[in-house]
Amino acid sequence: MARDRLAGIENYYDVVVIGSGLGGLTAANVLAKQGRKVLLLEHHSQLGGLATWFRRKGGHIFDVSLHGFPVGMIKSCRKYWTAEIADAIVPLKGIRFVNPQFDVATTFDRTDFTRLLVEKFGVPAARVEEFFATLRAMNYYDHNPETTGEFFNRFFPGRTDIARLLMEPIAYANGSSTEDPAITYGIVFSNFMSKGVYTFRGGTDVLVGKMAAELKCNGVDIRNHVMVERVLSENVDGRRRVCGVVANGREIRCGAVLSNANVLNTIFRLAGAANFDPAFVREAQAVRVNSSSCQVYFGIRKGESLPHIGDLIFTSAAPEFSTTELVAPHTTSRTFSLYYPDTRPGSDRYTIVASLNACYADWAKLTQAEYEEEKRRLVEEALVALERFLPDVRSKIDWTEAATPRTIERYTQHWEGTSFGTKFEGLKVSMELPNQIAGLHHAGSVGIIMSGWLGTINYGVIVANNLDKYLHARGEAAAAG
Ligand SMILES: Cc1cc2nc3c(=O)[nH]c(=O)nc-3n(C[C@H](O)[C@H](O)[C@H](O)COP(=O)(O)OP(=O)(O)OC[C@H]3O[C@@H](n4cnc5c(N)ncnc54)[C@H](O)[C@@H]3O)c2cc1C
Repeated sequence: MARDRLAGIENYYDVVVIGSGLGGLTAANVLAKQGRKVLLLEHHSQLGGLATWFRRKGGHIFDVSLHGFPVGMIKSCRKYWTAEIADAIVPLKGIRFVNPQFDVATTFDRTDFTRLLVEKFGVPAARVEEFFATLRAMNYYDHNPETTGEFFNRFFPGRTDIARLLMEPIAYANGSSTEDPAITYGIVFSNFMSKGVYTFRGGTDVLVGKMAAELKCNGVDIRNHVMVERVLSENVDGRRRVCGVVANGREIRCGAVLSNANVLNTIFRLAGAANFDPAFVREAQAVRVNSSSCQVYFGIRKGESLPHIGDLIFTSAAPEFSTTELVAPHTTSRTFSLYYPDTRPGSDRYTIVASLNACYADWAKLTQAEYEEEKRRLVEEALVALERFLPDVRSKIDWTEAATPRTIERYTQHWEGTSFGTKFEGLKVSMELPNQIAGLHHAGSVGIIMSGWLGTINYGVIVANNLDKYLHARGEAAAAG
């Protein structure tokens, strides 16, 4: 008989958190530290959502989205997690761009980008300064309609090479494009420019293991293999409000729900469109889902080693950067993340992960046979591209595997297998959820600026605090501290 994953749960929780991505985990931790009784439900066998890892034969551990994040992660992890987690965050120095327009190495911070733009791209220093100052001054509440493409053109007219240097990394970090509002670019790029790119030393398995230990220490009841099927709400004094969830076929009562599922999943699959105002449903229907990803994982045989060729390589054979080329099935644009033994101190192993942006629809329509063939092609094309940097790498690889938007959909349940939540308009819908159904909150990748590891963690904190205020207003005092 299948194990009851909900055995021993309480009759009532202050908050049920649906999903254990970085947003859900962080919100659960903040709420538990505020004294709330929290139940965290995750359908997958492990925690972390897209911040995940997997093990394969031959002793390989592959990280899925540990490629790089801004320095702000140190402060957020220290404040909302532990000093031990914050102290393991280290800079990633070897970033390279190799494409038909330029071949450069950078530490990806403001000083080095200024050097590159002035010396390599010939831009006057004053113009570069003005560009950075304008970026820094950007504000979400300004409602500036300028797109990222228009913004680049304002500062560097006709310079497709500069647009590529500035845009490519952010397109991989949060799925944004030159057609999105400039603010979605500006905030994330500025975050990176402050001090460059950082990573977690120890790997995602260690990070998420430490987060799980901290959650348990703070009293969070964590259950894996539990799929939330529905959010329950009732009418009280003419207003709809959350009263529970149905998970693994069982009803669980609670005062509030924080959903870390995609915002569209939350509205249309979990809460039910009929429970919202028709105007809000129309607004939610108009929210565009962000792009998805493909990845190719290469495991290097035990005993083999690789020379240091960089940590993160943005590579492409496309003559110029283009948003459509970036997500096309036959794109030549991909990043290589190289994991040397010091990624996991004490280990002597190397892995390489190629990441590509992708369109869900291109992969969803394939038959099983076509799908398998396309995955083989993906692996081979990535391998050929990698041989440019490591000519003998093929003979050192003993594990290859491809993941696609279908893989992401399967493991996260996300609407159209999105890797980066929704486009800009998703943030407003996410924030307005509790005005529609009291006690229903959403945290997770939305609106691009709230995407990526740092954005989702910080959004999780904001939403957890709002949710706590709601419970206070309802007269539900926290149990402790
Ligand atoms: C290939 C790739 C590379 C990336 N690279 C980077 C990078 O280098 N830097 C960076 O900062 N960001 C990167 N990102 C983005 C980053 O990983 C995400 O923005 C972030 O991890 C998303 O966190 P989240 O809180 O939105 O939740 P998610 O990670 O999306 O997790 C949501 C969780 O909810 C669970 N769930 C959903 N529905 C249910 C349900 N009904 N019942 C139970 N559980 C449910 C899912 O199983 C999942 O665990 C990358 C993403 C991808 C895919």
